[in-house]
Amino acid sequence: MLQIHQFPCLSDNYGFLVHDPASGATATIDTPDADEILRQAAVKGWRITDVWNTHWHPDHAGGNAAIKAATGALVTGPAEVERIGAAPDRVVAENDVIKLGAAEARVLDVGGHTLGHIAYVFDSEDVAFVGDALFALGCGRLFEGTPQQMWTSLQKIAALPDEATLYCAHEYTQSNARFAVTVDSGNAALAARAAEIDQLRAAGKPTVPMTLRIEKATNPFLRAPALKPSLGLEGAADWEAFAEVRRRKDAFKG
Ligand code: ZN
Ligand code: FE
Repeated sequence: MLQIHQFPCLSDNYGFLVHDPASGATATIDTPDADEILRQAAVKGWRITDVWNTHWHPDHAGGNAAIKAATGALVTGPAEVERIGAAPDRVVAENDVIKLGAAEARVLDVGGHTLGHIAYVFDSEDVAFVGDALFALGCGRLFEGTPQQMWTSLQKIAALPDEATLYCAHEYTQSNARFAVTVDSGNAALAARAAEIDQLRAAGKPTVPMTLRIEKATNPFLRAPALKPSLGLEGAADWEAFAEVRRRKDAFKG
């Protein structure tokens, strides 16, 4: 059974340390803030053996060199990580299976936010680290990919079991909720969740991780096909409805 330690860093990122007690192996999912990641590992008494990157952005791979210098960790990630400095020690892509101790993680290609963005899925634990692909009530901006590509990527995450626990890399949920209710105003589950999120944030608590089940019920990007009538897109392809929700979010002043 893996242990997962989540902590806030930078302005709105989350750091994650994944620890296999049997072997002692410990992976940091991305490297938003090397100093804070090393400090948190020390507090837990865990030695970082691995860096697993989701994509090349500086708030995800910018601490790779410092973590590697401090720990000798093996850096695993998509090839695009070389854009931030060094190439990963081990490049992975869709359907690769990598190990943390005895635990296996499967790599999903979830490109769109960046072209090479990947997610790590521990099927045996029903846990996925999705980086900036899917957020609670949101999804990553399309800096590099097309709406079609991102829609395909999100469908891979949506195909995981409903009970899967999703760890996304930013605490954006409250502002995502403000947008979500504008495109899905009749959704009672969304309204209830938005109120719950306000309570959590007022208490200084994280809204991450989340279950896939609640995302499927309330995330307007995953729900884009169901929103076609209210988007004025009846008869459109699912990805076109997704693209319209993404366009509206990009223009939203919340
Ligand atoms: Zn990013
Ligand atoms: Fe990010």
